[in-house]
Amino acid sequence: MPDPVIPERNKKLDKKDPNPCSNCSYCCEYVAIEIDKPETARDFDNIYWYIIHKDVWVYSDHENDWYIQFNSPCEKLEGHLCGNYFNRPMMCRDYSVKHCSRYGDGDPEEKVLFKNEVDLFQYLKKKRPAVFEKMKKRLDLKKAPKEPLSSPILTP
Ligand code: SF4
Ligand code: SF4
Repeated sequence: MPDPVIPERNKKLDKKDPNPCSNCSYCCEYVAIEIDKPETARDFDNIYWYIIHKDVWVYSDHENDWYIQFNSPCEKLEGHLCGNYFNRPMMCRDYSVKHCSRYGDGDPEEKVLFKNEVDLFQYLKKKRPAVFEKMKKRLDLKKAPKEPLSSPILTP
């Protein structure tokens, strides 16, 4: 399971804590599916289409794998607890808090995150100017919002 994009990070995992997931259920509140690494203007246009949908983000991790993330909680959640514990899918069984980005010793956080089109266009302008110019020819970016609607992109 890819790591969720977690707002609260770098807590220290206390190995003696009997419930390190206490008051947290972030990893049950999204679905992330790996997508092909975008290369062309058309690929980024597809990402543009994804992220103008409500609660859909795209990110890449530090291994340069790309994911589409649907921020949609599992229907089986009961508060922060699993209401389907004994019948939970393998994806849930395989996931370990040891790999959780909430903790400092978890997997690294995402490298690029597009929560909206402003994040995407700022990234393209800076990192993929040729793609940005191509898209600019087709889109009227003057009508696009100027400021990120949420948190800014995270780039190295
Ligand atoms: S594994 Fe991480 S994201 Fe999932 S509930 Fe535990 S602390 Fe939260
Ligand atoms: S089945 Fe349970 S563990 Fe799996 S995503 Fe849903 S609430 Fe979380």
